[in-house]
Amino acid sequence: TRTPVNVTVTGAAGQIGYALLFRIASGHLLGADVPVKLRLLEIPQGLKAAEGTAMELDDCAFPLLQGIEITDDPNVGFDGANVALLVGARPRTKGMERGDLLSANGGIFKPQGKAINDNAADDIKVLVVGNPANTNALIAQAAAPDVPAERFTAMTRLDHNRALSQLAKKTGAPVSDIKRLTIWGNHSATQYPDIFHAEIAGKNAAEVVGDEQWLADTFIPTVAKRGAAIIEARGASSAASAANAAIDHVHTWVNGTAAGDWTSMGIPSDGSYGVPEGLISSFPVTCKDGKYEIVQGLDVNEFSRARIDASVQELKEERDAVRELGLI
Ligand code: NDP
Repeated sequence: TRTPVNVTVTGAAGQIGYALLFRIASGHLLGADVPVKLRLLEIPQGLKAAEGTAMELDDCAFPLLQGIEITDDPNVGFDGANVALLVGARPRTKGMERGDLLSANGGIFKPQGKAINDNAADDIKVLVVGNPANTNALIAQAAAPDVPAERFTAMTRLDHNRALSQLAKKTGAPVSDIKRLTIWGNHSATQYPDIFHAEIAGKNAAEVVGDEQWLADTFIPTVAKRGAAIIEARGASSAASAANAAIDHVHTWVNGTAAGDWTSMGIPSDGSYGVPEGLISSFPVTCKDGKYEIVQGLDVNEFSRARIDASVQELKEERDAVRELGLI
């Protein structure tokens, strides 16, 4: 029998948490043969609702679920954690300035980073979902000097999946025929979904589409503004697809990318593609044996360069702002 993997979820009582926990417990995060122990971290006001979710998890009688612990103490929540999904964050409310948003989130992600540093297992892998995800990941990473920086990642997989789906719709190809799509930069409106290296059934996607106008005026804004479109339609945010993307991100990181394909992850830059070292930016990556590597040697055309640079510029500004606030 395998030792259970400790998975910590913050903001466990929220909308994404509700869509996420059942799939972790049923084996979709790590594999159908990997037992898990769940730690649900919440703020004090969220504890009671987290208990309710835990009751439902009990009632599913998941064979792989070997325990659930609920806490509002990060040191307890991350104790021995192998995987941490940082979902709980302070949302932007009306009239809130960026500085206020960043300092509110600094108050969450800095102590969580320190608690991960002090308590997590040596093989800890962190995914930040709570927005602004890239910069929240940077804050947590900076507070965890004993953990290798590359273990802190931010989610751009939902953007990646949205781009796959939009491209499939446009071309009539099934999603499973599309490979090597890339999200670059920040998980924000400036993100750049890049199809110039993507393939559809082995053919270059940009050539199959053959319509730069569609790329610039329809595809890119549709992917970037999809979250707002869903709120407008559903009257609630895209929690299920966000949870699904978090599952995909960790599953791919742990179990690897398919041969000939890659995925998109927000990761600390090593300077590749002109992205300043240390910024947590989305790149094309392959995963193998629990590690990821940036896909190297891609030719970046002018259209792509301008958009990558704009998103990276925004990441730099966010980093400078949290530096000024003493959060990193
Ligand atoms: P959700 O579960 O809907 O969202 C949580 C976070 O995920 C938000 O920051 C949200 O960003 C982000 N997010 C990323 N991608 C998406 C997406 N595609 N769609 C929607 N959200 C996305 O929020 P709830 O308010 O339902 O729940 C948050 C929970 O977190 C609460 O239970 C709260 O108590 C808890 N919390 C826990 C903390 C802790 O453990 N220390 C700290 C803070 C909160 P966006 O701002 O863009 O919506």
